[in-house]
Amino acid sequence: MAVYSLVSTLKMHIMKSNGHAYPVIETRYLNGNGKKEKIWAEADFLGDEHIATSIDTPMRPDAFDISDTSKMEIIEKHFEQIMLTLGLDLTDDSLRGTPHRVAKMFVKEIFYGLNPANKPGISVFDNKFRYGQMLVEKNISLNSTCEHHFLPITGKAHVAYVSSGKVIGLSKINRIVDYFARRPQVQERLTVQISEELKKVLKTDDVAVIIDARHMCVSSRGIQDDGSSTLTAEYSGIFKEDKRKEELLAYIGMNC
Ligand SMILES: [Zn+2]
Repeated sequence: MAVYSLVSTLKMHIMKSNGHAYPVIETRYLNGNGKKEKIWAEADFLGDEHIATSIDTPMRPDAFDISDTSKMEIIEKHFEQIMLTLGLDLTDDSLRGTPHRVAKMFVKEIFYGLNPANKPGISVFDNKFRYGQMLVEKNISLNSTCEHHFLPITGKAHVAYVSSGKVIGLSKINRIVDYFARRPQVQERLTVQISEELKKVLKTDDVAVIIDARHMCVSSRGIQDDGSSTLTAEYSGIFKEDKRKEELLAYIGMNC
């Protein structure tokens, strides 16, 4: 998709703030004004409709060629540019450390789940006694970030599976949910990624994942609706049967 493939030239400016001079990057788009407007209109539409382009998180092939430390240094410099461009005075004590804090937060906290090296190791146990039973873990705290606006998505995940003889510790389900949530996300993709991972780990198709979440990009900008939440569900295997689905929804208190 051409939406993000903007061709740009970079030009350095010097912006003065409290007697200090900072270099600021100015971006000029070569697409021509009409074309540029069309591209931005498409980007707005894609973002406001929260359309995902694939189930896998779109990653560059060289995503992990540089270290976390280098990534933090680069992000820090760029975030400083964003703040300067907004006109903020980075000599102020309160703002001085913000570019570094944001860089560290991106790499080590809210987007740590981009790196496969951070995927939680999950041990699976044999448990013949639970064969055929539905196991449900509900109200798992979910903190993610909308990839279209880089604003928080917060809510709850409910996960169920029917054991094929394999079980995992319940806290491991929280870890799997958290790992996939900690990347720029679209709620539908997050739901499917959690489901696919659980199917793989538990060696069963009988998995259901339901996410009920609020998107700050809906509540604090755009339509500014702070009363709505978004529900997504991925039912696989026997959870496609209405009876099982109803049993699950009743259990998590979502039956209507
Ligand atoms: Zn959004």
